[in-house]
Amino acid sequence: MTQSPVPTSKPGEQTTKKRQLNLGQTISLIAVAIGGLTLMVGVAGGGDAYPLLFLLSAFGLIAAGGLGHAAATFLTRPPGIRNEYTMSQGLTRRGTIAILIAIVFVTFYIVYYWFDSALTNLNAMMNPLSQMLRRKNASIYFTYAALYTFAILVMGARAFMKYRHSGYHQIRTTVNMGAQLIAAFLIPAFLVAINEPEKYVNYFWPLSQKDLFPSTVDYMLSEEFKLGGFLLFWSAGLSFIGVPVLTYFFGKRWYCSWVCGCGALANTMGDQWRHLSDKRLGAWKFERFSIYSVLLLIAGITAMLWIHELTGGALTESLSTGAKHWYGILIMSVWAGAVGTGFYPILGTRIWCRFGCPLAAMLGILQKFFSRFRITTNGSQCMSCGNCSAYCEMGINVKWYAQRGQNIIRASCVGCGMCAAVCPRGVLSLENGPRNNRYRGTIDLARPTKGRQAP
Ligand code: SF4
Ligand code: SF4
Repeated sequence: MTQSPVPTSKPGEQTTKKRQLNLGQTISLIAVAIGGLTLMVGVAGGGDAYPLLFLLSAFGLIAAGGLGHAAATFLTRPPGIRNEYTMSQGLTRRGTIAILIAIVFVTFYIVYYWFDSALTNLNAMMNPLSQMLRRKNASIYFTYAALYTFAILVMGARAFMKYRHSGYHQIRTTVNMGAQLIAAFLIPAFLVAINEPEKYVNYFWPLSQKDLFPSTVDYMLSEEFKLGGFLLFWSAGLSFIGVPVLTYFFGKRWYCSWVCGCGALANTMGDQWRHLSDKRLGAWKFERFSIYSVLLLIAGITAMLWIHELTGGALTESLSTGAKHWYGILIMSVWAGAVGTGFYPILGTRIWCRFGCPLAAMLGILQKFFSRFRITTNGSQCMSCGNCSAYCEMGINVKWYAQRGQNIIRASCVGCGMCAAVCPRGVLSLENGPRNNRYRGTIDLARPTKGRQAP
């Protein structure tokens, strides 16, 4: 792994210097600002007469500025990871800029979920694109999918430049971008264009919780659709066959770090905030309670809906429809959306994946007990710098295992590979190997005490 030299400081010199913008970065940020202003004018209704012009100028400027900034930042220095300003910039240390971005993100989600009429003009700007792809005007879901895909593509290109020395990250980022563009944007749009159900084919139960609800099954199997049965089979097949088989061979990374849109957004747009994940023991305890609770909850709601469907009981009807309604609002809208993504700049990028996603819970159980995946550690090489723990987006104290030479087999590890990428000593390696002797390493039963970092 190539590691570029990090500037050293003289004795007594402050090491938390602020980064100065170079000319390329300054021009790029101005382009982003003009693009953002154009977008705001469009959202306010100023682009009604020329929706395509406003769409192309707003997103073109933001994309050009974002890519220009990434190029001016990463391509002007040798390949390798440099994180020396992470703890001193407002953007990445929960400073004013981070708080402002979080406010914008959360406000967007509140408007999107509960006041979507305010986005009518944004939808109108998307109409030309929607007409081209779907032969229909843009729905709010199409607009959201377009914004989400745009963010992953632009920030994915940024990640490509930042991690250009690492084959693993280049391939993973390419798959992230391709999966989002094809499976979660172009295919659903194509399905709408041919009057089939709008299905995001990289999501399935229990993350896409409605997929196995009786009402969805009825809808998919209705005579008006030719592909409904296939899409239903695809979704259920991934939930009950794809998940165990692929997780056995590759661990949960095949989904959480390669295919899932939530993971793709975290590892592209959220990359700059990955170090903010909570590393405390209490967070690990909460994670184990919360993520399996959500899995049990959605499994129970799905079972109740089917019991009601098959028996027609009045009690199951009121319970299951109420639970379904509140699950949608509290878990999917508030937690997965507004908090899970809105709080990236404050709480780190995998808040939903780590604490709430029921599919991640399923994948995690399989990874822990029935998988060939592990991160091996060459403990004798570890110099305890802590880079790996600092940049683990799932809050795993990787250093704790590395110091002991133990393999890392944690249910929560999404196999992003960043711990290995930032390790200056090449201690860590993501591997799929034989299951016997998988828990190799010095077994240290001493658990950290309260208040210390979690392993
Ligand atoms: S342990 Fe490493 S591979 Fe696993 S989530 Fe953390 S940084 Fe990613
Ligand atoms: S494993 Fe590598 S990154 Fe982690 S503490 Fe040891 S030397 Fe540092």
